[in-house]
Amino acid sequence: MFCVECGAEDCEIVDSLCRECYAKKHVWATIPDHVDLTICAHCSHVEIEGRWKAVDSMKGAMESAVIGSISIPPDSKLVDTRVTLRENDPRNFLAQVDITLSSRGANFERAISTLVRFKRGACNECSKKMGNYFEAILQVRGTGKSMDDEMEQELNTFVTERMKSMKGNSRDLFISKIERVKGGLDFYFSKPQPARNVARELQDTRCAEYKESSSMWGMREGEEVSRMTYLIRMPGFDKGDIIEYDSKDYFVRSMSKGSVHGIDLKQGDSRPLKMKEASDFRLSVRASQIRSAIVLIETDKEIQVLDPETMIPLDLRKPVGFLREGEQVRLVKTRLGVYVLSDSW
Ligand SMILES: [Zn+2]
Ligand SMILES: [Zn+2]
Repeated sequence: MFCVECGAEDCEIVDSLCRECYAKKHVWATIPDHVDLTICAHCSHVEIEGRWKAVDSMKGAMESAVIGSISIPPDSKLVDTRVTLRENDPRNFLAQVDITLSSRGANFERAISTLVRFKRGACNECSKKMGNYFEAILQVRGTGKSMDDEMEQELNTFVTERMKSMKGNSRDLFISKIERVKGGLDFYFSKPQPARNVARELQDTRCAEYKESSSMWGMREGEEVSRMTYLIRMPGFDKGDIIEYDSKDYFVRSMSKGSVHGIDLKQGDSRPLKMKEASDFRLSVRASQIRSAIVLIETDKEIQVLDPETMIPLDLRKPVGFLREGEQVRLVKTRLGVYVLSDSW
């Protein structure tokens, strides 16, 4: 047996060729003279083979882009690649690649090189965010003409936190804009579902009124696309607040769809209050404004506390089931009366 190409004898022959001649003819590795990497200027995701990905390191991203650009014959296999990067300038790197590839049961070494070039761009999601893209608006309103700052702050945190937990790894779920408008806040959502979830949650747990509507927006791939609007009207009070209803004061223990679970401050008994109109309820004292008072004397039915505003002792009746854990109790003054709150509420 001899090599038909070079005539070498007494050697391993593959396809009528010696190992060297076979390799020259059939075992090759090529790479384009440059490999471009686009980095999103906003989130640092890198576009690799047409898809935007989060990368742990730019070195790793360059290596995988380089390796992804290598071409070898269809009947051979990449066994090993070693990429050496040398920085020409921060946007251009020379990549030297040592390759081991196997063909017909034998391994061959090849060395190739390319230039890695960095480009700045914007990934699809960031482009949408920058363009304030939205498919749904969540409109959160209070009862009056304007929403008070405390509530606005709290709802802003609530909605953004909920979104964060729903988002997970879905890059297409985001809030592209939050706008302060007359009477409340508008949240612009990239997708309707999370907006709807938040709206429903506010309805179910905070007695909010819920309305949804849609409007035609445009066409996408031959189908009509609509934009959703979820309107949420908050009742103007929350868990822990003191409200007035039907000439009585109540501590709001919890809220659910259409009903408030209140504790009658005079009696201490709890009852559900059906909510037909938010305006039937009047906010007396916000939870954050309830003060504590030092207890002076406590008997079976009565309690004497030091009014923190006037420093005058007050004798009050204890509500049914009253429980005290510390030296102080929460003291509430409304236009209807003065009460102590049980620590069990
Ligand atoms: Zn040969
Ligand atoms: Zn991005």
